Amino acid sequence: MEALREPSFRESVDLMFNRAVSVMDLPPGLEEKIRVCNATYTVRFGVRLRGRIQTFTGYRSVHSEHMEPVKGGIRYAISVNQDEVEALAALMTYKCALVETPFGGSKGGLCIDPREYDEHELELITRRFAYELAKRDLINPAQNVPAPDMGTGEREMAWIADQYRRMNTTDINANACVTGKPIHAGGIQGRVEATGRGVQYALREFFRHPEDVAESGLGGKLDGKRAVVQGLGNVGYHAARFLSEEDGVIVTAIVERDGALIDDNGLDVEAVRNWIASHGGVKGYPGASYVANGSVVLEKECDILIPAALEGVISMNNAERIAAPLIIEAANGPITAGADEILRRKGTVIIPDLYANAGGVTVSYFEWVKNLNHIRFGRMQRRQEEARHQLLVDELERLDRYLGDSWSMTPRFKERYLRGADELELVRSGLDDTMRAAYQSMHEIWRERDDITDLRTAAYVVAIQRVALSYRAKGL
Ligand code: GLU
Repeated sequence: MEALREPSFRESVDLMFNRAVSVMDLPPGLEEKIRVCNATYTVRFGVRLRGRIQTFTGYRSVHSEHMEPVKGGIRYAISVNQDEVEALAALMTYKCALVETPFGGSKGGLCIDPREYDEHELELITRRFAYELAKRDLINPAQNVPAPDMGTGEREMAWIADQYRRMNTTDINANACVTGKPIHAGGIQGRVEATGRGVQYALREFFRHPEDVAESGLGGKLDGKRAVVQGLGNVGYHAARFLSEEDGVIVTAIVERDGALIDDNGLDVEAVRNWIASHGGVKGYPGASYVANGSVVLEKECDILIPAALEGVISMNNAERIAAPLIIEAANGPITAGADEILRRKGTVIIPDLYANAGGVTVSYFEWVKNLNHIRFGRMQRRQEEARHQLLVDELERLDRYLGDSWSMTPRFKERYLRGADELELVRSGLDDTMRAAYQSMHEIWRERDDITDLRTAAYVVAIQRVALSYRAKGL
């Protein structure tokens, strides 16, 4: 039944959760235990800036501790509020369960417009926020491990890690207290691109299943599909770039804060990103038509719509007019529960957020493991792997000489085969494997069960089943 009013973000997540549990058989009471948010800590702290004390409000919400540490980003935005942080924390629980990263769900946020402060001021604010959270174990390698989210990045994560280290000088695992750090401060290769890369791998996997593609009315390959991308931040930029440069996807429109750009022959994602960096928006970008009211461009005809910015951009107000037959939720919660209902009725296929944007937390998991291992991935094996490959190449070359012109090894093969995998290649391979396995788990029950008719419900059912199993193992 269609909701009468637009639900809040948290209500939306709960409605999607309820839809899934209605086709599950959970022990009495467990459903509520899983759905509710365990705790939300609100902190108000002062920082002396520009000659006066300014008070900031921040949150860290812990949705589920069925596995610890709990995991989830810290968002800096003026719109941050408790409802949003709790919805995002719940999504983290289901996301981690779906992609089998051994974490519970958490999320943090600070009500701040980071563009209003210079770097030094942001450092003071971040360190103070981190201090408040760390002293309550809401930042801790074994209990709660934040990461970047909207408005934060490597720089903030490095400050947080350093703050934690100063407060816990003898903790040998201090680096694992936060992920998304810069490489020189304990980070991992490929973390910045990870969420966008995950979106790419998710789409590739979807297109490996022709029967799933057919549900949307689309056919054929990913190559040549037309995509509209909303938001050219870290997630949208990497997803759009990889899809257009490596998979032949044509990005026909980019929707940003100050309007949208349209070019049916395909936009140059890199050039648009550079234009935004130097001009503060998309307006004036040469060689594409500009539309000031960006939100109508979400309704533009295309094959794939990629919302990669804020939650709630597809709501009961515009869902009916969305023309894309396939939507991949690169952002968290871009489609409200009311809009989801309308789109499902229209036959739109939605690749849901908890799967589509799980690349970020997956590579965060690799970073956390790297930090606990105190060694870079591949450091022990790389040269040994190369030496073994060399043995085979030597043998083939011997054969080459013996067979003469009738057979020869291409130089390209030799070069590629000889090179042992570095950290970036290992991270990408681990991420690809994770995205494929998670898709398979959703796909199986989507196809097998008549009462599960969409990918989102399938994703929630897989995730909730796993959370329920770990509660059972704990004796609950
Ligand atoms: N903020 C990202 C998300 O929403 C990443 C979380 C993490 O890496 O822990 O999934």
